[in-house]
Amino acid sequence: MTMTKSDRVCGRFAPSPSGRLHLGNLMSSLLAWLDVRSQDGVMLFRLEDLDPERSWEHYADQMADDLRWLGLDWDVGWEPGSQDYRQGTRGDFYAEKLKQLQDMGLVYECFCSRSERLAASAPHPGEQRDAGCGCRDLTEAQKSEKRSMGRRASLKLHVPERTFIWTDGHYGKQVDTLSPGGDDFIIRRSDGVFAYQLAVSADDMDMGVNRVVRARDLLGSTARQMLLIELFGGEVPAYCHAPLLVAPEGRKLSKRDGDLSTEGLRERYTPQQLTGKLAKLAGLRETDAPVHAWELVSDFSWDKVPTEPIVIDDNI
Ligand SMILES: [Zn+2]
Repeated sequence: MTMTKSDRVCGRFAPSPSGRLHLGNLMSSLLAWLDVRSQDGVMLFRLEDLDPERSWEHYADQMADDLRWLGLDWDVGWEPGSQDYRQGTRGDFYAEKLKQLQDMGLVYECFCSRSERLAASAPHPGEQRDAGCGCRDLTEAQKSEKRSMGRRASLKLHVPERTFIWTDGHYGKQVDTLSPGGDDFIIRRSDGVFAYQLAVSADDMDMGVNRVVRARDLLGSTARQMLLIELFGGEVPAYCHAPLLVAPEGRKLSKRDGDLSTEGLRERYTPQQLTGKLAKLAGLRETDAPVHAWELVSDFSWDKVPTEPIVIDDNI
């Protein structure tokens, strides 16, 4: 479904239907939408339902409804009931992309369990970077032995030594060095599900996304995604990260904060009231007076948005 590439800005909503959207998701969604609309761009909705065990159709429908309720819209992409623009249906495409990497000799089987992988990839500060899990050096005989023991392999990308330098649209200059071994990462899980990094990179490229706005917790994934897009022969999008919303003690807001899920928020506020509160938290307006999302478009600027985490309590 390669879209016609154009010079227009193309951004995306890319939620996973694993639960109701919470306030943090709404903030990132609002900022992503304002970013695109203020540049007269195209907004796309992609459903990231890669993991069959953590994706539920009713949450997908609900997420679309919640975004529309808030006053956000999109021009192309997934709609309730449609099979397009959903990662769950794009396995053949990801398999092609995997084959491309395999043909470059960059993919190897990793037989480690999740806990073994975590142990292999978490060097303590100050220690030398680790050399990876060692699976890349297994002989055919060793691999056969692991298979005969019932171990199923995940597939890992062997990263080249590479330093990425780029300018984040909100956080400025970023430098991230990937090293072979310790920074190798999984591109297909042992249960056959393609990994987030591969799917997101391949999809952003294929769908013509040239502007990625998302929460700051994904800043650390950016270099890996840039690497994959480069290896696929695509053009790397511009990345722009939004500050995280955190609870007063600094903890990231999560689905545990039930009052801040859209379910609770929709009971307490009108869309304009909630948009007003989000706009004030994001530094876009001085008061939290009710406002429609469209009224924020003409004055939108990332310069107004804080870079520090935005602290909120249950009574936003
Ligand atoms: Zn391994």
